[in-house]
Amino acid sequence: MQAPLFSEGWHAVNNMLPNSRNLTKIYDRLYGFYGPQHWWPGDTRFEIMVGAILTQNTAWSNVEKAIRNLKEKGALSSPRKIKDMPKRDLARLIRPSGYYNIKSGRLKNLINFLISRYEGDLNRAAKRAGDCLREELLGVNGVGKETCDSILLYAFKRPFFVVDAYTKRIFSRHGFVKEADAYDRVQEIFMNNLPRDHELYNEYHALIVRLGKELCRKRNPKCGVCPLNGIQRKIRTF
Ligand code: SF4
Repeated sequence: MQAPLFSEGWHAVNNMLPNSRNLTKIYDRLYGFYGPQHWWPGDTRFEIMVGAILTQNTAWSNVEKAIRNLKEKGALSSPRKIKDMPKRDLARLIRPSGYYNIKSGRLKNLINFLISRYEGDLNRAAKRAGDCLREELLGVNGVGKETCDSILLYAFKRPFFVVDAYTKRIFSRHGFVKEADAYDRVQEIFMNNLPRDHELYNEYHALIVRLGKELCRKRNPKCGVCPLNGIQRKIRTF
């Protein structure tokens, strides 16, 4: 009897080896199916950094509205514009992105760091070695690993693979990782098995997000039309 499509209670029969061959195969399938994603949507390095904070726990469509508000006020022309803005005004502008009080504080923290460490000059920050810049960014209150690596990859073109909930969901469903695995463990699988290439990491992460949003949903994933269908057999355990 034909097994129904993937749903809760399905598990991989054999874990796929998280090796270079399999990770490349998945990338090729995704790229062949969706094509280039042209990430990150942002005109400048600074805009990408701001977007990386604003996108925490919200959909990108909400972030776009907040970015538009900031642009209309000229607030994205330099970090100092946001530094000089009262926190209450900043919170009002970024309100569409949700958690606006928390995010306005996080933006201020990030900007205070950029100004105190690099005088607000992102070209100076860009000259810093990737690992050092990562360590510094992780020291900013409100910048977690996913946000930090998004900034490094998309704003500074540094090869740090971004891990998010979609990555864990998709790759746990195919037996590469467990959904509960720590960020670093999942990131290592990609970074130890793929070339350290920021363009590859950029595209791969963007493709994962597209797949997670459109097909590999939390409930009722659409395996029947998914480019990764058949990459591994799954069985139902109850
Ligand atoms: S990645 Fe595709 S085939 Fe795999 S579980 Fe998700 S929807 Fe199904």
